[in-house]
Amino acid sequence: MIRYVLFLSLILGLFTSCAPKRVNSTVKNYERTIDSVVKVIVLKPDTTRLIFDSIPESSAYTSNFGLRKPNYIIIHHTAQDSCAQTLRTFAKPESQVSAHYLICKDGTVYHLLNDYLRAWHAGAARWGTNRDINSSSIGIELDNNGRDSFPKVQIHSLLALLDTLSKEYQIPASNYLGHADVAPGRKFDPSALFPWRILADSGYGYWYPDTNRVIPDSLRVEPAIALKVIGYDVSNLPAAILSFRLHFLGSNKTGPLSPEEMNVLYAVMQQYL
Ligand SMILES: [Zn+2]
Repeated sequence: MIRYVLFLSLILGLFTSCAPKRVNSTVKNYERTIDSVVKVIVLKPDTTRLIFDSIPESSAYTSNFGLRKPNYIIIHHTAQDSCAQTLRTFAKPESQVSAHYLICKDGTVYHLLNDYLRAWHAGAARWGTNRDINSSSIGIELDNNGRDSFPKVQIHSLLALLDTLSKEYQIPASNYLGHADVAPGRKFDPSALFPWRILADSGYGYWYPDTNRVIPDSLRVEPAIALKVIGYDVSNLPAAILSFRLHFLGSNKTGPLSPEEMNVLYAVMQQYL
């Protein structure tokens, strides 16, 4: 009996000691990273970086400043099986990935990182001439394996979050994008099942009106030009076309655009002119 009690307490001890240790190491890792960021922020302007041969070095300060604000929202699906799995991934320093928000299938929203800090969610990405999307964006991950549709309650939470963020940072309607939009050929999230139209109807992102409208000849440009006007990196045109289809046509078809799809492309392009 005594042996059984000892065994039981050993097992219980193991369980109770494992969980807090993981949380503690996550907090410690977080604090270590914050310390390194703070060390950079408190540095005063370094005049030794300015190299002008004939001009004497000088220092002057201003107190008129604030924090830079995010200007884009990038939406992802996690391609993982649960929120718990994603939380574990983001807590591991070796994963080298993170996002500001994670929204679970039941609508729970996790705020993982201060919006003013640079999360590592977009990777090598480009929109227009902006080649450092992580520096100017908030990353929102939706718990989704890439095959299932997005539950209503999850989208409801996303819309509520976007309502807050759009007011806080005055993010332009054009700047609500998917990971696939900014990394064509490399990323394909959120999937074709993501309801971009519902977002656009609330003012987050653009949509297109009736595509039966006659498109002026002057706007009938090459697809590569139309995609570039919107913001896509067209260095790999088939990849850019696929990203466009994922976002605006709810399709993951490959191949050239059909005449009907071209009409959608021109209609979307007009929103960006
Ligand atoms: Zn992504």
